[in-house]
Amino acid sequence: MTLARVSLKKGKDQSVRRYHPWIFSGAISETTGSPAEGDVVEVFASDGTYLATGHWAPGSIAVRIFSFRRCEPEREFFRKKLYDAFAFRLNAGIAGRSGTDVWRMIHGEGDGLPGLIVDIYGSVAVLQAHTAGFWHIRSMIAELIIEVLQGTVTSVYDKSEATLPYMAKLGAVNRYLAGEDAGAGAIVTENGMKFSVNWQTGQKTGFFIDQRDSRSLLTTYSEGRRVLNMFGYSGGFSVYAMQNAAAVHTVDSSSAAIALADENVRMNYGDDIRHKGYVADAFTYLAEINRDYDLMVLDPPAFAKHHNALDKALQGYRRLNAIAIEKIRPGGIIFTFSCSQVVSREDFRRSVFVAAANTGRNVRILHQTGQPPDHPVSIYHPESEYLKGLVLFIE
Ligand code: SAH
Repeated sequence: MTLARVSLKKGKDQSVRRYHPWIFSGAISETTGSPAEGDVVEVFASDGTYLATGHWAPGSIAVRIFSFRRCEPEREFFRKKLYDAFAFRLNAGIAGRSGTDVWRMIHGEGDGLPGLIVDIYGSVAVLQAHTAGFWHIRSMIAELIIEVLQGTVTSVYDKSEATLPYMAKLGAVNRYLAGEDAGAGAIVTENGMKFSVNWQTGQKTGFFIDQRDSRSLLTTYSEGRRVLNMFGYSGGFSVYAMQNAAAVHTVDSSSAAIALADENVRMNYGDDIRHKGYVADAFTYLAEINRDYDLMVLDPPAFAKHHNALDKALQGYRRLNAIAIEKIRPGGIIFTFSCSQVVSREDFRRSVFVAAANTGRNVRILHQTGQPPDHPVSIYHPESEYLKGLVLFIE
């Protein structure tokens, strides 16, 4: 198979040689073989040296690299990538852990497969293609997932409708790709706790798997406390806090989310009056309370999806954290997060610092949290570190 060729301008090969997986369109001097969106291309330095192989796209990121060695990008190549990703998670103690059957198998750039996300929910894998490249080979990837996770995963559901580039007009429809139709959702287990997940109607692939470690950390602080889980979605943090808290209130602007949070708490604790769910806007709710809580979780949706929205996003984090720091009881704890990729750890910490300074209260950082090992960050691709958290102690 002759692959299309992408040649870089002189001096524009530095970042590829340092294994950064994106080629920006401005670095390209010439493209031969007229690749279509999603085609595999090979990347060359200006002197003709081979550099990398990846998927072509017409946007500002023109190539997403999946190999820095010359390869035949066929079934065998991707089979090895999937086995590597699985072995990595077995080594990290995540796959095959007793009491946990929900985990991420493929995390895009973190697994050397930019544009591909695969999450495991018991016997179902949910695949999300973010590029035409992976969408074109989704059926093959689905077969390989079942092969690699044999005996565990029996069905693969494609949920790429909303994640593919809009302009690509691929006409994707969410549906089962391989194995039997396993319905819309299932009950999964995380650290022994049960969660109802609906991958067809739920946010992302159905569950915020990336907060597993922070949810665990929460229980070391929630004992006897009055907990506010703000932006609670399906009540992940609430179910953990219910292990030992005095009261847990879940707040979300979506009534479907609160219904799900109530269901998840009930599934683990029955009708326990310590839990209440509220459908409300975060800022309104926080403005109306007094110093009622001594533990708050603030896990808002990404305030910035693009670089040009960065300033507004930072302002959002400042406002949210300022009101929470103001309203927490003395001796209280705040778990605060940002999942905006364009907001760096430094930016986020500075926003929280400004928020704290405005309240005049003494604030200390107890923990700085990030992504669990099944959402690995490639050291060559700092952009994949999207989830940042701070655990604060407020006097
Ligand atoms: N903490 C959750 C994930 C949160 S996702 C978990 O661990 O699973 C962000 C949630 O914020 C979504 O459920 C969304 O409905 C909610 N949300 C968005 N804007 C909001 C607002 N202004 N006030 C309250 N909730 C909001």
